[in-house]
Amino acid sequence: MPNWVDRATDDLMWIAVILVLYLLPAIVAVSRKHRQKIAILVLNVLLGWTFVGWVAALVWALVKPARQPVTQREFRRCPYCAEPILAAAVLCRYCDRVLPSGWGAARR
Ligand SMILES: [Zn+2]
Repeated sequence: MPNWVDRATDDLMWIAVILVLYLLPAIVAVSRKHRQKIAILVLNVLLGWTFVGWVAALVWALVKPARQPVTQREFRRCPYCAEPILAAAVLCRYCDRVLPSGWGAARR
């Protein structure tokens, strides 16, 4: 094999290694099925060349996004119009009535 082919293969290998290292935050985010993986990828690609941007993207990729508390995602029926609305709602989105405080905490 000619010498230049060896060198070209070496160069390509190094480019691949550097590319994988550079995109590590995005790879981590995608493999962890991070909810903000697209935003992390954008930050990684655009600001990864600044060391701070790369570290920020990596930390972001490793941080588990906070899930909404279950009570906030629960639905309850509006006491006025009976449409299902979030238990944490203060205003019904169907009938526009202000809900009594603590109504969502009550059992269905
Ligand atoms: Zn309502």
